[in-house]
Amino acid sequence: MASKTKFQAIRGTRDLLPPETALWNRVEQTAHEVFATYGFGEIRPPIFEPTELFARAVGGETDIVSKEMYTFQNPTGLAPMVHEKEMVGTLAEMSPESEMISLRPEATASVCRAYIEHNMQQLPQPVKLYYMGPMFRRERPQKGRYRQFYQIGAEILGGPDAPAIDAELIEMLMTFFDKCGLQGTELSVNSIGHAADNCRRGYVALLKAELEKVKDKLGADSQRRIETNPLRVLDSKLEYEQPIIATLPRIADHLCDECKTHYAAVKHELEQRGVIYRENWRLVRGLDYYMRTTFEITAQGLGSQNAVCGGGRYDGLVELLGGPPTKGIGFAIGEDRLILSLQESGKGAAPQGRDVYIAWMGERAYATAIRAAKDLRNAGFRVELPPTELKFGKALERASKLGSRFALILGDNEVADGQWTLKTLADGSQQKLTEQALLEYLLKP
Ligand code: ATP
Ligand code: MG
Repeated sequence: MASKTKFQAIRGTRDLLPPETALWNRVEQTAHEVFATYGFGEIRPPIFEPTELFARAVGGETDIVSKEMYTFQNPTGLAPMVHEKEMVGTLAEMSPESEMISLRPEATASVCRAYIEHNMQQLPQPVKLYYMGPMFRRERPQKGRYRQFYQIGAEILGGPDAPAIDAELIEMLMTFFDKCGLQGTELSVNSIGHAADNCRRGYVALLKAELEKVKDKLGADSQRRIETNPLRVLDSKLEYEQPIIATLPRIADHLCDECKTHYAAVKHELEQRGVIYRENWRLVRGLDYYMRTTFEITAQGLGSQNAVCGGGRYDGLVELLGGPPTKGIGFAIGEDRLILSLQESGKGAAPQGRDVYIAWMGERAYATAIRAAKDLRNAGFRVELPPTELKFGKALERASKLGSRFALILGDNEVADGQWTLKTLADGSQQKLTEQALLEYLLKP
């Protein structure tokens, strides 16, 4: 007997439906267009990869890898065809050497893997790639935070050590947000130097010493981070920790000369490009290979999940994954949040109505209606042709419910004398037109 289970989308996942999907398409189309003008090509990496890739690239200690990934065993060989009931058995039979794989929680690791796998260091450098698609993280679902969410991201791999690369990437990002119509964007930038004693390592040691002094006034999370990752204390959103954090030493005062010069040049280039930014010395990344430029963009209407994009430079990552020493910088936009913000500020998609609803009655009229529908669709109009005959009154009712602009009324009379009736639904006015005149009328802007 058929089960009565009422299925629902899994917690933290959701269906994207029309008309909202039209907005998603517009945003993605804008990304394709803007990124292409900056010389980027699209990469579509797989949705799952070896768990080890993420563990290495994102870091085994991070929340993402230690508790948020969807990880499972990849059965080796081909799974035998089994009846549903027997499936449990095949899971148990999986060989122990089958590898662990994970749904991707982000895509930078995959892009770097692909760069190495396809020897892209032999292409003209730098290589500029972008991607878009779903990511998976087992987080607590809330507004702007899902377990399947979407990112649009870009990476620049290889090439010289030039601050212009950082600045142009950020310029492209802000151009994209601007073309999307995103409101209230704020770009924050920082430099976190590089992992050397005369640069970030020295700073972190100093920070740690200062944090030890105020340890008692900090919360449990921050206390733990003094040991595991002192930089992350700067991330804290806890109200009572803010005045303490404000007195801590700042990384900008402890950068080595090269990183200081690089940071100054990035800011200068942003100004030359008319990109408005503010500096946020607390914008950090907890991983060793992140270096120099980090940035984040927030937008309005998102509550506490207001970061729509995070990015930064990661010169050591490709090498960490077994490739040649390669420079790298990239960003990831949270598409769900971008869309939410656009909707909140009234920049959502217009409801998708029909241009023409064909109200037909009679067999001869139906034949003409089929042809007319085809011709109008060929000309690019959105046309609704009812699949069954409806009385004109009923048909017109449907036409307005669907948000149609026009109803084309085709009865046997209209077909016989070649004068079709076009009704404008907004004001109810009607006119008689030949087929040719009708098309011309509709095509008029
Ligand atoms: P957050 O601090 O909001 O958790 P994050 O530091 O985990 O963000 P990144 O890994 O840098 O974020 O990802 C880049 C962007 O992806 C974020 O700025 C955000 O817009 C989006 N994002 C991250 N996690 C989620 C999620 N679970 N649901 C929806 N969007 C997300
Ligand atoms: Mg997160």
